[in-house]
Amino acid sequence: MDLNKLADALITDKDVKPLDYYEQRYPLRNLEKGAQVTRLAPSPTGFMHLGNLYVALANERIAHQSGGVFFLRIEDTDEKRKVEGAVEVIHSSLKYFGVEFDEGADLCGEYGPYYQRQRAEIYHAYAKELIKKGLAYPCFCTEEDLEKTREYQTENKLLPGYYGEFAKCRTLTEEEIYENLKAGKPYVIRLKSQGDVEKKSTFHDEIKGDITVTENNQDVVILKSDGIPTYHFAHAIDDHFMRTTLVLRGEEWLSSLPIHIELFNVLGFRLPKYAHNCSIQKIDGETRRKLSKRKDPEASLTFYREEGYHKQAVKTYMMTLLNSNFEEWLLKFPDKPIDEFKYSINKMGKSGALFDILKLNDISKTVLSNLSAEEMYDFLKEWAENFGTDEQKRYFDDKDYLCKVLTLCMGIGGKKRRKDFICAKQAVEFISYFFDETFAPSYEYRFDGAIVKKILSDFKNAYSYADDCSAWFEKLKVVATESGFATDMKAYKANPENYPGNVSDAAEMLRIATTGLANTPDLWTIMQILGEARTLARLEKAILAL
Ligand code: GLU
Repeated sequence: MDLNKLADALITDKDVKPLDYYEQRYPLRNLEKGAQVTRLAPSPTGFMHLGNLYVALANERIAHQSGGVFFLRIEDTDEKRKVEGAVEVIHSSLKYFGVEFDEGADLCGEYGPYYQRQRAEIYHAYAKELIKKGLAYPCFCTEEDLEKTREYQTENKLLPGYYGEFAKCRTLTEEEIYENLKAGKPYVIRLKSQGDVEKKSTFHDEIKGDITVTENNQDVVILKSDGIPTYHFAHAIDDHFMRTTLVLRGEEWLSSLPIHIELFNVLGFRLPKYAHNCSIQKIDGETRRKLSKRKDPEASLTFYREEGYHKQAVKTYMMTLLNSNFEEWLLKFPDKPIDEFKYSINKMGKSGALFDILKLNDISKTVLSNLSAEEMYDFLKEWAENFGTDEQKRYFDDKDYLCKVLTLCMGIGGKKRRKDFICAKQAVEFISYFFDETFAPSYEYRFDGAIVKKILSDFKNAYSYADDCSAWFEKLKVVATESGFATDMKAYKANPENYPGNVSDAAEMLRIATTGLANTPDLWTIMQILGEARTLARLEKAILAL
């Protein structure tokens, strides 16, 4: 069969150039010895999974720690999965967590285009070459033909796929091929596999270690009927010409590794190193399962931004998942920037990484408890601007006021720094009672309305903004005593039945009246921050509500 003629008939792309051209167009990168070139290669689905951040961080660390390059390639060969604006989402969500690319889609770079759909010419050039060498052929099988084969294989418990005797188009004669072409039958291009499933060899995976790989014998599709490559073919060509040195990707690709090894081989490309990382899992009742896009809101990167997790907390937590020795390092050097940690690929888990949101929350509390009032202000403001309600956005108009609120609520500068805040949303909701617009108390007292009313009114009459903390408390004691409440706690504890309550019960009434809550930071300070007029107005409002 005249294979050159066949190649011309099957691949009609006029842009195709001689293969040397591509080798020269994408030369080996001029990098220091040991520098790694890694990449993230997502499909533009618009959804960013926590797993994407996990793989991105690992790849980014490996490239940047070694003085190499980390790039973004968009795998847009599947038109159905494509979503408008998805690349922007990829950039913005990763950037938020401190992962930035050196080159790639929508960035500069000498190894592009970085969108696979724009690289058709290169795939065509190499498909053509394989046809010429007798290593690829056209397949005219229809969906029904393939379905029939599948059914037969299932019934007879045979391995599924297009191989051996099932690879019907492998043996088409020249006449049959041209007849089909003449009849306008659609076709795909398949690899003519040279492999033998009886042959096994040891392969070194940078994460999994030495694994046994069986040779590929599947005549996989390399170009679909519309001329678009499959993942397998595009992966081999792109990672060769983008000069990737390490392919670190999800372990769901491990089963395709034999195909990729064969493709690199027949294309005459040097195989990069591979690392297959495990998926992120969670405990669900009795079982451990993959973090699921459909079932788990925390699987989406958007979740962390909407809740307002601090980027440093998420990054720190991801590092604990990525490297088993990271936590030890963090304990030793809590103040060092995370990027100073020497990330190592062989300390990545070989089986699933277990996601535990409680641990993330703990890390978040620590991260937030290390922020100054000003840093906290900036952090919360950024969240509110993107995700807050209009009222919440207005909290940030008076920076001085808000910093006072934050200083109090977080115990900044005090003996005991509070660690209650996990994320921005929760913190902003927590401080809502400091703002009249969102102060919506339900006033739930533990005492009779008449008693509460008397205590609130007496205190309101006695209150002076100028009182310091102890004068304020003395006044509260007087007010409590007037209603028969105990101020001597020892006496109260000895005979509680002699009193309607004690001074802290009276303080609780004031607290509920002023803030709507039974538990808050120091009430005198809250009143100082609220100011005289607002404090009196709140007491008045509470009295009227009784
Ligand atoms: N587009 C593939 C995915 O999103 C990329 C896998 C790879 O990194 O090679 O799973």
